[in-house]
Amino acid sequence: MPIDPTLPYDDQNIFAKILRGEIPSKRVYEDEWAIAFHDINPQAEIHILVIPRGSYVSWDDFSAKASDEEIGGFIRAVGNVAREHDLVQPGYRLLANVGRHGGQEVPHLHIHLFGGQFLGPMIAR
Ligand code: 5GP
Repeated sequence: MPIDPTLPYDDQNIFAKILRGEIPSKRVYEDEWAIAFHDINPQAEIHILVIPRGSYVSWDDFSAKASDEEIGGFIRAVGNVAREHDLVQPGYRLLANVGRHGGQEVPHLHIHLFGGQFLGPMIAR
């Protein structure tokens, strides 16, 4: 069920548990600012989730409250993950769902990184 992105951060959400190592994940990247792991239900050949280490509910929360350092570090981490998976030349897609219209289900900011195949139209009709 889509989450309400205006609610306070819930440190029991599934990605908070993955971040703390309480729940297993197929981690493919980590640095000071972010971790990345494979989506449990991939929607493309490559479907990786990149999340900030900080406690932010959504892109809205992050872009409003994170420090410039956190934002810079996170954006760089997303680029690093794509480069490390050789996705630049073939191309890839980034997506962040926010709230009900976006269909966001996990209340910790995550960027979906899709690649490894032609991804088709941007939004399904
Ligand atoms: P959202 O709809 O919030 O943008 O995307 C949430 C994503 O998290 C979905 O693509 C879903 O498959 C993925 N997901 C949900 N639970 C888990 C989990 O426990 N582990 C991993 N690796 N991915 C998860």
